[in-house]
Amino acid sequence: MTAPRDERLMRYVAGLFAREIDALRSIRAEHKAYDIPEINVSPEEGAILQLLVRAVSARSVLEVGTLGGYSGVWLALALPPDGRLVTIEGSDKHAAFARRSFERAGVAGRVDLRVGDAMDVLKTLSGPFDAVFLDADKAPLPRYLREADRLLRPGGLLLCDNTFMEGKVADPEAQGSDVQGMRQFNSAVANEPRFLSAVIPVRDGLLVAVKLR
Ligand code: SAH
Ligand code: MG
Repeated sequence: MTAPRDERLMRYVAGLFAREIDALRSIRAEHKAYDIPEINVSPEEGAILQLLVRAVSARSVLEVGTLGGYSGVWLALALPPDGRLVTIEGSDKHAAFARRSFERAGVAGRVDLRVGDAMDVLKTLSGPFDAVFLDADKAPLPRYLREADRLLRPGGLLLCDNTFMEGKVADPEAQGSDVQGMRQFNSAVANEPRFLSAVIPVRDGLLVAVKLR
């Protein structure tokens, strides 16, 4: 059995538990007009990310894959005013849209947007971070995992979007480098005793793990 996908039920849940501030609603709505791919997290997933980050009283969060800043705004809103979201984006166009998103949502002061290839930027960072959200390209995920592990504090949260790869992770015919990257990442996290992990079947799947030590 999969997560309930009944439209009416999902609207009911979202209407109560995934309320977007006005800025989030317009950021999401404007992706199309600015030719930004509509692959941002859903409001339901954004609300879960925000809750998880708030639950560990995070002050420093790292996001890999900013896109238009939609998930970043949800994350930044969970931080105290002196908290920090470092978010990495490879596309200048996406980064420019995201910069405006952070300003519109009133969180620009807490956001440090780094434009560049994820791996290059990750290598320059030093921790500790309270949470790391991986949501960029999927083939290098095993390498992103090593960096995330290095940067996370014990007790910190590892989050990764698109666990399901639209179902391809469980389809033996699917052999693309992105699916293989996700499979390797998922099994590395699941088999690492230092991580306690689970998957929340929201949208395309959200892996949640706590770095125990
Ligand atoms: N987290 C966003 C969605 C991210 S989509 C949200 O939910 O709102 C993935 C993003 O990762 C895209 O903007 C893409 O340009 C960026 N990306 C992909 N590969 C990258 C890489 N190697 N380095 C940096 N950014 C990358
Ligand atoms: Mg994603």
